[in-house]
Amino acid sequence: MFSIIIRSTLKKPLAQVTGKVTGMYGIDKITFFDLDGRFTAVVPVSYSNKPGDYSYELRIVDFRKREHVVSGTVAVEKRTFPTENLEMSASQTDLISDQKLNEDDKKVAQAKSDPTPRALWQGPFVKPVEGPVSTEFGTIRSVNGSPFGWHSGLDIEEPQGEAVVASAAGRVVFAGVLNATGNTIIIDHGLGLYTSYNHLFKMVVKVGQTVARGEKVGEVGSTGFSTGPHLHFTMTVGTIPTNPWPWFAADPAELLTPH
Ligand SMILES: [Zn+2]
Repeated sequence: MFSIIIRSTLKKPLAQVTGKVTGMYGIDKITFFDLDGRFTAVVPVSYSNKPGDYSYELRIVDFRKREHVVSGTVAVEKRTFPTENLEMSASQTDLISDQKLNEDDKKVAQAKSDPTPRALWQGPFVKPVEGPVSTEFGTIRSVNGSPFGWHSGLDIEEPQGEAVVASAAGRVVFAGVLNATGNTIIIDHGLGLYTSYNHLFKMVVKVGQTVARGEKVGEVGSTGFSTGPHLHFTMTVGTIPTNPWPWFAADPAELLTPH
């Protein structure tokens, strides 16, 4: 993921900034948020992109309504991920049919359709449970020998019933049941950043509720497509999964500071 910050060097602020990246997965359109005249976008880079140069184009409208176009390329470097095969029963694999996954995707996209236009978090994000990570972000998975795709988050091992806490402050935008991820909570942290807490045994927050970093949101479980109690935890920009580790190490707001 990377950020783009555009501001006017004149006294009057810019009127609008829009942008697009050609060919990069899921981000044809770049969403800018106006932070007191600094137009800021956090742009996710999906693991499904092929390495190479991608062209971007930004359209900047100044206070006189004149349009300026800035274009260039952004390079995506090669990265390799570990691989893993899961042996799952037929009743389990039914939960990840294309149709069931599409149903889930629609509900998640709906929940993420109105991101808070400012940062609700402060400081680094925290691991929502303490346990060891059993499957890393980006692991390329197959299910019963058939390719399934990249692992969208971290699997963290904890027994059923352990408290799961909010990774950062935000607003609950989803608390319900999905086919693949079972009892699922999604928190909007602002500027398009979201975390999700999956396969929960219990959920203790409701949609619309604001939560603080470290506040309990649910309990570890094994609901949905799961082999046993663990927390599947994701961090996304919009709907694109990103690697959580950098967000634990440093405040993602550092990305939003010009340097
Ligand atoms: Zn997982």
